[in-house]
Amino acid sequence: MALREIVLLGDDVLRKKARKVTSFDKKFQRLVDDMVETMIAAPGVGLAAPQVGVSQRVIVVRLPDDEASREEYGDEAGKVYIVANPDIVKASKNIVEGVEGCLSIPGYYGAVDRPDKVTVKGFDRHGKPMRIKAEGWLARIFQHEIDHLNGQLFIDIANKVWEAVPEDEEAEDEDTA
Ligand code: ZN
Repeated sequence: MALREIVLLGDDVLRKKARKVTSFDKKFQRLVDDMVETMIAAPGVGLAAPQVGVSQRVIVVRLPDDEASREEYGDEAGKVYIVANPDIVKASKNIVEGVEGCLSIPGYYGAVDRPDKVTVKGFDRHGKPMRIKAEGWLARIFQHEIDHLNGQLFIDIANKVWEAVPEDEEAEDEDTA
């Protein structure tokens, strides 16, 4: 595995609609392993392939694994999700506002309205169909990452965007996807 460079706002790849994954070959396995490593090292809770310069429809998601997260999320804490060709097939009517950041837009946060529960369909790293029901923060991360595959960033849909004050950065780093 290897760390990949995270692409920043202004790069065209972040604005393109990513291509479907059609081959679950060795190169793809390397890509997803590198994405997981890069996400954890950043640190972030999610990463989409365009954020490492690869215009393919694959995302990785992982909630933090600290004590507070284990208390709040149980088995979901620290669990790595790798989803190719993800699609939101169901979303709750209940819309909630939450704070988001993005590894491609460092130092900025935004308040974004999203459904609080979603069902995501896609394929695992070997091409096997999978279905995930997510709620709360996990649901938000999935939606944020899937937006990346369609060239959409949180700053496009945020109710407001603000710059983090430097002393907050460490505390808020983990919110970044
Ligand atoms: Zn992002």
